[in-house]
Amino acid sequence: VTLTNGEISELLALTAGGHEGNKQRAARRAAHSALTWPVEVGELVDGHGDVRSLRSVGPWIATLIEAWLADPPEPPPPGELRAGFRSYAWARDVLRQEPSWREAVRGDLQMHTTFSDGSLSVAAMARAGVDRGYEYISITDHSKGLAIAGGMDESVLARQAEDIANVNLALEAAGSDLRVLRSLEMNLGTAGEGDMERDAVRRLDVVIGSFHSQLRSKDDQTERYLAGLRNPDIQILGHPRCRMWNRRTGMKADWKRVFEEAASLDKAIEVDAHPNRQDIDIDLLGLARESGVRISIGTDAHNSEEMRFMDIGLAAVAEAHIPRERILNYMPAGKLLEWSASLREG
Ligand SMILES: [Zn+2]
Repeated sequence: VTLTNGEISELLALTAGGHEGNKQRAARRAAHSALTWPVEVGELVDGHGDVRSLRSVGPWIATLIEAWLADPPEPPPPGELRAGFRSYAWARDVLRQEPSWREAVRGDLQMHTTFSDGSLSVAAMARAGVDRGYEYISITDHSKGLAIAGGMDESVLARQAEDIANVNLALEAAGSDLRVLRSLEMNLGTAGEGDMERDAVRRLDVVIGSFHSQLRSKDDQTERYLAGLRNPDIQILGHPRCRMWNRRTGMKADWKRVFEEAASLDKAIEVDAHPNRQDIDIDLLGLARESGVRISIGTDAHNSEEMRFMDIGLAAVAEAHIPRERILNYMPAGKLLEWSASLREG
């Protein structure tokens, strides 16, 4: 029996809790990075690979991991702030067994650029989308209410539209099939209301609505979600639980009601595939499947390297047996745009 990266991550998180200062930071960083390592450490070591080649693994962390692998401790149950998270290596294993999930996917529906808090331009993210063989990527920078993430106001959104149009022209001239979709991660208030002028939002191809405030509320938030879904300007509810690995457990709701409302409105629930979020996760995806709701997968990438986390979202929907016809990312761009237009005009 060997330890998985998820179990090693948990052991490292517990190690961090037993130290202070530099050691605590190193263990916490490695616990987080373990979710993003490309291979299972056990396999790496079996193949005579070096643990130190992995992100955030210095000499001390390497010694810990090598000792755990040599004599595996009983894997601890994950702490409340880390329960339900899977690793990127796990996702790759799932997709190795079911490669069609990756082969058939057409695009990534959440990512950020320098127009808000991302680190690359629209053009650079588009190149990464071409490299991944996508048919479309959706640029979902933050809206103006989220100042901390450099949210865009209407004038910046209009400038971004010009940039995206130019990138699309350049892609077409180069013979690429990739199309960059105009989107937005619109900040929703607790009553489900948006923070942008409706005229500006209605010109977009597709809109995600997300909550970013009062996320630690312990009370049931069902009404907040229903109100958000009923906002006529959004088509996708972004990272619904708003949980964050090792920081926030996420909000509570009657998810069955939330998913059924989304299904009856024909709106989509997001699987934010970023390793820090994994929101919604496999457990809730089971409930989502029963409701028949549409699913949208987005990596929430803030650079091109993070676009690989699509695998985490794909493995989650594969494990939850979501029918592909319910997943936006398997729709051709034309069908996707028809769907969002019908909701906008609905
Ligand atoms: Zn967000």
